[in-house]
This record gives sequence, C-alpha cells and structure tokens, in this order.
Amino acid sequence: HATKKTMADHLRKYESLFTLTPQRMRMIVEAFKETLEIGLEKHGQIVPMIPTYVFGWPTGQETGEFLAVDLGGTNLRVCLVTLQGDGKFEVTQSKYRLTEEQKQGDGQDLFDFCASCLKTFIDSNFEEGSLQPNELLPLGFTFSYPCTQERIDQGTLIRWTKGFGAANTEGRDVAEMFRESLRKKALLMQTFQNVPVELTAIINDTTGTLIASAYVNPKTRVAVIFGTGCNAAYMERIGSIPKIKHLGLDDGAEMAINCEWGAFDSFVHEHLPRTKYDVTIDESSNKPGEQAFEKLISGRYLGEILRLVICELIDDGVLFLGQNTYKIEIPYALDTAFLSLMESDPTEELLMIIGIFTHFFALETTLAERQFFRALAKLVGRRAARLSACGIAAIVSKMGYLEDGCAVGADGSLYNKYPSFPDRVHEGLQDIFGDKGKRVLFLRTFVGSANNDEDSERQGYLHTC
Ligand code: ADP
Repeated sequence: HATKKTMADHLRKYESLFTLTPQRMRMIVEAFKETLEIGLEKHGQIVPMIPTYVFGWPTGQETGEFLAVDLGGTNLRVCLVTLQGDGKFEVTQSKYRLTEEQKQGDGQDLFDFCASCLKTFIDSNFEEGSLQPNELLPLGFTFSYPCTQERIDQGTLIRWTKGFGAANTEGRDVAEMFRESLRKKALLMQTFQNVPVELTAIINDTTGTLIASAYVNPKTRVAVIFGTGCNAAYMERIGSIPKIKHLGLDDGAEMAINCEWGAFDSFVHEHLPRTKYDVTIDESSNKPGEQAFEKLISGRYLGEILRLVICELIDDGVLFLGQNTYKIEIPYALDTAFLSLMESDPTEELLMIIGIFTHFFALETTLAERQFFRALAKLVGRRAARLSACGIAAIVSKMGYLEDGCAVGADGSLYNKYPSFPDRVHEGLQDIFGDKGKRVLFLRTFVGSANNDEDSERQGYLHTC
C-alpha cells in the first residue's frame, strides 16, 4: 500500500508538469504564427520557412514510374512509385536500417551507402532491358534535414538534426554529393541493368507528404511528419514570401514551404513549457539549444523523456530498490515504441509492461509501478500531441483554412503506430479552436512507416481517419 500511495503522489507532480491547458496552447499558437511570418520575411531565421521550388498542386492525373531514396532519420528507404492517375499509385519499397557510425561518420560515406542500397534495389526489382532505350528513370531524393534551395535539384544542408552529425556535409550541396556517390556506383545517367537514373529533385519528407496527399485528396492543404523528427509543409502564395521577391516570380503563383518548425523556440526558450527532463535532453544532445520544439514532440525523444523521469525516481530511491538498474540507465535505452506498447497493454495486470521491463531492462515491477509508467507514458505522449496541434493550428489559422475546413496529410511512425496520437492531436485542435477544430481532417499517408514487415512493403495505402 505504501508503494501505491507514493506512486500516486508522484504521478500528481508529473501531471502538473506535463499538462498543457487550452489557454497556454492558444498563447503558443500566437507566438508560432508570428514566427512563421518572420521566417517568410527574412532569410536566416530560427524557423527558416524554406522555399522548396515545388510550384503548386498536382492534378492527381500524373502518371509514370519514379524512383525515390528517402533518408529519414532512423531508416533509409528506397521506393519505386508508379503513378496511375485518378489519384492512384503503387509503391514497391525496401527499408534499410542506418547505423550510428553512418550517422556520425563521413558524409560522403553516408551517400555512398544510399547509392549502394539503390543499386541493390534496382538489381532486385528491374530486369535487364525493362525500360525503353534512352529512357531515364527520374530519381527523387527525400532528404529530411533543413536545406536551402535555389532550384529543385539542389540543396545546401544548413545543419544536421535528429542526432545526425556526419562530417563534411553541413554547408554543402547534398544533391551534388549524392550524384558523386551515384557516379561511383555507375548509376548516374548510365546504363546499369539498363536502368539509367537521373537525380531530378531533392525534397523534404514534409513537402513529399504534402504533394502525395494532395495527389490523392485535393482538400490537402498542410502536411506534417511525426517520425524521428517533427516538421510541417504547406503551400504559400509567392506574393506572401517577401524574402524571395527579388526573384521576380509570379506573385499569384504558389510554392510549397518547408517550415522546419522543429526549430521553433530554439535558443530563446520563451514559449514552450520545458521540464527539467527536456532541458537535460537538450543539454546532452549533440546540438544543444537547437530543435527546441522537435525535442518535446518527436519519436527520437519521447522515450528518453520517460526514461529520465524513471531514472530520477531510481536516484530518489522510489523505484527498483535493491535491483540492478544499469540497463535502464543507458541514455536512449527506452524507445518511443515502448510508450505505445505500454499505453495499449490490454491486460488488467499490465503483462505487456511486465514483459518490457523484465525482457529489456531485467527489472521487476509492481502493479502500482506499472500503472504509474502507463500514466506517465500517457502524459508525455499527450503533451507531444497537443504541442503538435499548436503548430498545425498556427498554419491553419494563418492561412484562413478554418472556415472551409481542410485536410492535413500526416506520416511518420509516431503518427501511424502510436495508437492514441492522432486522436490527441485532434482533441488539441478542438481545445484551441473549439468545435471548428473538427473541420481539420487528417489523412494518413502511410507509404513507408505503417508496415512492420521489413521486406514486404509493396503497397501504398491511404485512408482517411
Ligand atoms: P523516419 O522519421 O526516420 O523517417 P519513422 O517515421 O519510422 O522514420 O520514425 C521513427 C521513429 O518512430 C523512431 O524515433 C521510433 O522511436 C518511433 N517509433 C517507431 N515505432 C513506434 C511506435 N510503435 N510507437 C511510437 N513511436 C514509434
């Protein structure tokens, strides 16, 4: 009984630390809107609002075969996308896990690895002579780190995010680096299995999700990614992007903007409710001060937030007395996927949580502790979803999309696999906008992250929730 009471007491403290009131959320939305505007006005802002040189919406009638390499954060994906028109498409995909060495080593080696995976993919998916002579297969490179672009087929890496730190890459044109790797593998503009590849576009995953969602559902106005990182894109009127006025583009035309909103509140830390666990994550990260918004929301960090709370209670002698806790004391030992598992444990005894702690951390738990962990996971996951709602609300409100309603394309494992995440984002939007929040619909664009089976991801699904 003593334990139970203690755990319940502790929970109250964390509830007040991690709970966001609607009023606080609305304040964040206002600050967010201002930040988005400033990013459109001037170059080099914290939230860089990057012009993507993707002009306007697809019609849904586009057809053809396209290759895509997606360097996400946790996985590398290679896809062959067949657009069939009428908003229909098919995807054949392979997934390769990135190692820590690849993330932290030399940048050129990382792109060499991407090229190798592409070569393997082509080898196993194309037969000699399957394309027409002189037919070039266009390759899009989804590179989901902030890049400044002057054209669609070029991109200079501003800075690595999501724990990446590969050397000799920041400040360089990553499209050119990737072309160099493709050349080495004899893939670029050359016949390999009679499949000549041409790198035609470098694109952020958010922009990709925006266009892919719009291809299927023309009500799409915004796209968000909840994966290793967190980011959004939307379509802006060129006349409303003062910082590119000098290019003399048609003011009335539209261009997709990659917000890179994960950087919101970086360095200044004025608007977001950070706990001491968030501060610890930030300070011990490879990029202190940066990606302040992302560090409260994305898959890379949520498990770590929970782990830090647990470690604090171990240090205070509240949890696991007399047990060896070294396994759970390893930084990033608790993956965000565990939060999903803990929350969705259907058993009264919380057997799944018993399994997680015994199997992965060699720790025995009491029922009261397991209930506490589950409640804590809920708090951390709910805060992340509600903060995300603030970002979405800022774009929706700035663009005036609330009156007619709109669809938001969403992708990433956190969104697709964390069962309560989508509902909580939606609930957050209603806390901000009232009933009108219901007019914002989400489209799950799960091309890549929905399927656990590493090798059989051979379909593109899309459905409205
Ligand atoms: P990327 O962002 O690298 O393209 P994903 O969209 O698959 O890749 O996101 C990977 C992130 O999602 C990881 O940080 C991982 O912890 C998290 N994740 C994976 N599975 C789950 C899950 N079931 N529930 C919550 N988060 C998950």
